[in-house]
Amino acid sequence: MTRTAAMDLKSLIKDVPDWPQKGVVFKDITPLLSDAKAFEETIDRLAEPWKGKGVDIVAGIESRGFLLAAGVALKLGAGLVPVRKSGKLPRAVVGESYSLEYGTAAIEAHQDAFPKGSKVLLIDDVLATGGTAKAAVSILERIGGQVVGTMFLIELGFLKGREKLRDCDCRALIAY
Ligand code: AMP
Repeated sequence: MTRTAAMDLKSLIKDVPDWPQKGVVFKDITPLLSDAKAFEETIDRLAEPWKGKGVDIVAGIESRGFLLAAGVALKLGAGLVPVRKSGKLPRAVVGESYSLEYGTAAIEAHQDAFPKGSKVLLIDDVLATGGTAKAAVSILERIGGQVVGTMFLIELGFLKGREKLRDCDCRALIAY
């Protein structure tokens, strides 16, 4: 496979100023997803650090996290668990509220999403303030998972989200 350089991936992420509200620069990854080679490269590189680490479950955060987590789960031979916005999952859940770069929200996962002691890798598209990922890690641990790491396509370093994930092996492909 021909490898796309890291800079090429970055060039396929479009900045959308003042969306969904003034002051936020939204990172639009849809051009990257629609480029077959770049998408494959992205999934490969998200999965690479976790090969051989015994990951049982890849958890993805709604909604763009799902798109990446599914590919990574297939690469790692792991199962996929969706961490969804509040009210979307049909059975008993474990949930947490958290702050976003823009607003507040709540997420949850099925309380029986995986067997206790499972090794879980958390995936999302963007690490911003870290509130979402911190809440997701807490949910996964309350379910009985052992979170082996958190992996992001994009890290907005100036928002210092990584500081909320100090206890995790926290990695990102592209930093701003
Ligand atoms: P946070 O909890 O602040 O780390 O926000 C992370 C979540 O919000 C992720 O699920 C992202 O999809 C989304 N998000 C936050 N900021 C941005 C941004 N600037 N561009 C795109 N998505 C973002």
